[in-house]
Amino acid sequence: MKKKLSLPIQILIALILGIVVGLICAAIPGGPDFTANYLKPFGTIFVNLLKFIVVPVVLLSMIQGIISMEDMKKVGSVGWKTVAFFLCTTAIACVIGLVLGNAFNAAGLFPKGLELAEGQVWEKATSANFMDTLVNIFPTNMWSSFTAANMLQVIVIALFLGGSILAAGEKARLIRDFVDSAYAVIEKLMTFIISLSPIGVFTMMAWVVATQGAQIIGNLALVLLCAYIAYAIHAICVYSVAAKAFGKISPVKFFKGAFPAMMFAFTSTSSAATLPVSTECANELGADKDVASFVLPLGSTINMDGTAIYQCVATIFLASLCGMNLTLGQMVTVVVTATLASIGTAGVSGAGMIMLAMVLTAMGIPVDMIMIIYGVDRLFDMGRTCLNVTGDISCSLCVTQWEAKKALKKAAK
Ligand code: ASP
Repeated sequence: MKKKLSLPIQILIALILGIVVGLICAAIPGGPDFTANYLKPFGTIFVNLLKFIVVPVVLLSMIQGIISMEDMKKVGSVGWKTVAFFLCTTAIACVIGLVLGNAFNAAGLFPKGLELAEGQVWEKATSANFMDTLVNIFPTNMWSSFTAANMLQVIVIALFLGGSILAAGEKARLIRDFVDSAYAVIEKLMTFIISLSPIGVFTMMAWVVATQGAQIIGNLALVLLCAYIAYAIHAICVYSVAAKAFGKISPVKFFKGAFPAMMFAFTSTSSAATLPVSTECANELGADKDVASFVLPLGSTINMDGTAIYQCVATIFLASLCGMNLTLGQMVTVVVTATLASIGTAGVSGAGMIMLAMVLTAMGIPVDMIMIIYGVDRLFDMGRTCLNVTGDISCSLCVTQWEAKKALKKAAK
């Protein structure tokens, strides 16, 4: 009986085949044109499908996340500490990603300006200042935000709708069930679209290598290196230090205890699938059971520091590829968008790459550029999921200690 190859293996084969076909086409006259005219369009179809799914995914996953926070009222104290921890560490992650991405860029390790066929140009970001961006994230018309795929506006709409559904209480039961069921459908659709990714990877890789030459492969290795250095810095400087300072656990003990979950996340590339293992690790490390059972599931949905780092590094790389230099104001926008995008990222394999479309759109970087790094996304995903899960465990230990301190103070009174 024939066994179906797993998706990561299919993607790997598509990647290698794409590189080989690209190199062959680069060497024969008319080869690059062939890839541009007959292979790239199939990659474009795949990118179009990604673009088409991103609005419903962001809208529904964020509304669902807010609705599930209903419990936060009951566990208000744990809730706000958890969310504060998540937001602070994610913002730090973005800064680390941006600093390293810029350092690599400044050192000339990222290529500047991809060569395009004559007459072709990347659509550039229109330079908007921070205040304009702030004003523009508030929509005047919900439907035009959806049709224009203005992701910041979509997030604001999700926040407002989610909050209003919570405020409406029992009367909103019907819409809650609708959101649940619609999200289940969208998740299935997302899985289907992702299953087509080998076609997108093969055709885009062949086109990129044929038209850009083999150098692009070396460039991808450098972006990966940049992201992994940032992952390591964040794990060591933020999580282990937080676990030591607030959770009273030595870094060695912390990483040793979290190791099984980190490895499971690294290979499964899904925070959600790692949840049972991370719960066990957190309990072993001394996290309070109630705290862990609140922090870890919430973290596996909204705490994605690895994803945030990846999105920042990828944005700098792709911006550089299409000849853009991000201004300071634009970088602030990247931090805000990547933080929100990582919150909206589902804890499943490859979701962060889909949400990267949102950051790129906000920056005016063509979403098609994603295909350049799509082939190696799994390699990014392994590291970012590992970091995402480590962050959840670190948070559960810190909140446990904060709650214990609060209880002690209360008892002393
Ligand atoms: N795979 C990641 C996770 O589950 C999400 C992502 O793709 O960034 O945590």
